[in-house]
Amino acid sequence: MPKLWSLDPGNQTTWERESLWSYICRLAEWNHMVVGDLIRRVIWTDASWRGPENHSMSSAVKLINLGGMYTRFWVDTLEALTGQENLSRLTFLPGMHAIRFEGSLLQIGSVCVECLREMRPSAVYQPLCWSLRDYTICAKHHVCMTRHCSVCGGSNIGRTRTNKRVGCCGNCGAWLGGPSFQSVVSESANRYELAVSEMLKGLMDALNDTRIASLGSGTILKFAAEHYFESQAELCRALNVGKSTVSTLMSEKTRPTVEMLIALSVASDVPMRQLLIGAALNRRARRRHPDIPLVVPAKVQFQRRPAFDVAKIGKRLKSFLVRKHPPSVRQAADMLNVHERGLRAKFPDDCAKLSARHSEWVRSRAKQKEQELKKRLLVAVTTCVLFREFPTSRKVQSVAPGLLAHRSVQRFYAFLMESIGLRGCGRLPPVLRAKRLKVARETLLGLVKNPSQILAA
Ligand SMILES: [Zn+2]
Ligand SMILES: [Zn+2]
Repeated sequence: MPKLWSLDPGNQTTWERESLWSYICRLAEWNHMVVGDLIRRVIWTDASWRGPENHSMSSAVKLINLGGMYTRFWVDTLEALTGQENLSRLTFLPGMHAIRFEGSLLQIGSVCVECLREMRPSAVYQPLCWSLRDYTICAKHHVCMTRHCSVCGGSNIGRTRTNKRVGCCGNCGAWLGGPSFQSVVSESANRYELAVSEMLKGLMDALNDTRIASLGSGTILKFAAEHYFESQAELCRALNVGKSTVSTLMSEKTRPTVEMLIALSVASDVPMRQLLIGAALNRRARRRHPDIPLVVPAKVQFQRRPAFDVAKIGKRLKSFLVRKHPPSVRQAADMLNVHERGLRAKFPDDCAKLSARHSEWVRSRAKQKEQELKKRLLVAVTTCVLFREFPTSRKVQSVAPGLLAHRSVQRFYAFLMESIGLRGCGRLPPVLRAKRLKVARETLLGLVKNPSQILAA
């Protein structure tokens, strides 16, 4: 008897199969748990393989979608727990024997916000192909995949948290299909990236096909070399590797990576799915004939920094020293386009001065910010008292949301309540409380007019 609700994995034709991690998150929701509890209390306690000291949850999750022994353990345990069959299809396990997926997976989250919006009426899930690093453009909507959260500004929306939900930011929990997430339409310059995304979609299609099981690790390369390339040198050029690498790949000692398959598909003009299925059946597939041939974009060359011009840089560094908001040494080095270490070595005195001025400025800014927060609290408490309401922390919270989250403001709140004689009076009988409030009102009005004294305290 399965322990968990037997949730069907997402597998719509439009978005293809779900990823295992997304399935686990949804499974937790269906079983009224947070995903951290599902993993720690149910999956790991049921499995013999974990060793709690060996894996943190986030490092475990990084390995889940990948194929391999570890993924196999997860799949077996989940199949036993849910009674579902064939959960290995939610990972790269079906193609693991012929293709190398290590190094091709994205370590951070990546979603298409348009897809999420469209999925919302039925079930929101994350397709497996979204976890591939080269899948940068949604093949359905032709928009760039979103990797940053525009609500909290976090750079990893896929962060693993114990309360992670599918389709929500891993940092702040914001729904990623919300109005603040705008999709960026890919331009014509991204034609290559779009073609790559379509190839990866084809790869996922091929993984769904049971015929791919007959692929050996060297089969794909051998097949491509035989049917689509004139010579081995041409194949080497297409893959951008040496002859020895190609012969190792053909001798079935290693498996080709996803990047190599993409390069093969680009160079031979054979769609990815046809290439893989063709290799499995040893049947030549027709080439596609694109109107404009695909060109692999040149890699961005590493640019050398310009030579270190001591006189010019010294002069600009001096100008930073008299600025109202002095930058830190690192920021100055970035602005001058030089290395921080070089800057410190050439101008030790100026750097020390700049560093001191910067930290002084940072301190004074923090202090100023704190004073402003305290002033806001004073106004919030006064507002409550003027409306004859007792300024409990909950009341203050509703007047000025988020204000009491700061530690220093909390301390100031306690101090303020003490000094206006309201501390510990929340539960007094209403008549006594009203009396105290009346006294506090006079004190507070005086304080608001001249706040410097209490703010300094
Ligand atoms: Zn999309
Ligand atoms: Zn966020």
